[in-house]
Amino acid sequence: MISVEEALERILNQITPLTTTQVPLSEALGLVLAEDVVVQEDMPPFANSAMDGFALLSQDSQPRNGQPPRLRITGEVAAGYVADHAIEPGTAMRIMTGAPVPPGADAVIQVELTRSEGPESEWVEILETVAQGNNIRPAGEDMRRGQTVLPSAIEIGPWEIGVLATLGWAKVPVIRRPHVALLGTGDEVIDVDEPLRPGKIRNSNSYLLEAAVRRAGAEPHRLGVARDTIESLREKFTEAVQSDLIITSGGVSVGDFDLVKNIMTEQGEIHFWRINMRPGKPVAFGHIGSVPLLGLPGNPVSAAVTFELFGRPVIRKMLGHTRLLRPQVNVVVEDGVSDRAMRRHYVRAHVEWRNGRFIAHTTGNQGSNIMTSLLNANALVIVPEGGAEVHPGETAKAIMLDWPEA
Ligand code: AMP
Ligand code: MG
Repeated sequence: MISVEEALERILNQITPLTTTQVPLSEALGLVLAEDVVVQEDMPPFANSAMDGFALLSQDSQPRNGQPPRLRITGEVAAGYVADHAIEPGTAMRIMTGAPVPPGADAVIQVELTRSEGPESEWVEILETVAQGNNIRPAGEDMRRGQTVLPSAIEIGPWEIGVLATLGWAKVPVIRRPHVALLGTGDEVIDVDEPLRPGKIRNSNSYLLEAAVRRAGAEPHRLGVARDTIESLREKFTEAVQSDLIITSGGVSVGDFDLVKNIMTEQGEIHFWRINMRPGKPVAFGHIGSVPLLGLPGNPVSAAVTFELFGRPVIRKMLGHTRLLRPQVNVVVEDGVSDRAMRRHYVRAHVEWRNGRFIAHTTGNQGSNIMTSLLNANALVIVPEGGAEVHPGETAKAIMLDWPEA
């Protein structure tokens, strides 16, 4: 049995980022940029007004004989239009925020610092002196032609999408999303819309994993459930190998019908199949042809927890992310963990920030079949291997499942 750290290292060593592709800008959220973004034109593209007001020559704003100067209004520039004449000394033009500064003008005074007789007025009084460049946003103030504004390998968030939009990148080069085949196993497992019959249970794993895979940024493909026969598994695997990653659940333990390992040996190789942890000791990792296969345990809690610890980092690495693991923090385990496990124990818990500390409460019965122990859990408290106990009020490390990867 290998440690969680060794398992993770051996898995991630086998995973490389996928190829790049172009996606429409509005589909780039969360993906990793595959090229540097170099600015092709100055942004903003033209000098424009930061205020609604009047474009003028700054020297015309100087008081004359102690009186506010009066300037003749020669026209108006709205956002989206260009002035058809220049500003001459002694004149001004109405201007709106975002409108190009007319030629000749070197300042804009906001409307609140002027006085005029309504919108039709031909004259405006300038009530304050303004300096050259006042309220003018120069061309290239934000981004300069030739500048690398986004380096490749960053994750694209809403703000990056805004920058890409302003630069006219309607398509974005990104690392593509992995296709992940999800396969359930077991004669007892029926689909969610079938009535329960004696001895049968519904396929919770495939649906849980489908959601978790999607949340990790990949495209899940549920391939249904293989019966506990080698023929049924073979048939499902012919479809599964078309994906970038295969995730199975169940059938990797030591029971008579745990055939996933058999099919891995038959069609590829097993790198390992047991990890010193609880829940989720029977985790197999190998390849079918060149497609990596993560064989998760059948118990739903084990499948969920091992997906978070191993499956999600695999998907993130395929997506080109460099931050692969959720952050860990020290938490005070208010109710403690009394059931001693020789294996490393990942205890489902709810963590909250209270009085300057992170306080954890475990979510009850920690059996690997107790799906309700996942509800309300936003963290996994780590109890080290070797039969340690965490007394109420003691501190432990916890993996924060709802914090972004660090
Ligand atoms: P196995 O590893 O195949 O022996 O499965 C371990 C436990 O997980 C058994 O109780 C199975 O019935 C259960 N199990 C396996 N696959 C699923 C599934 N897709 N959904 C819910 N429970 C499952
Ligand atoms: Mg089974």
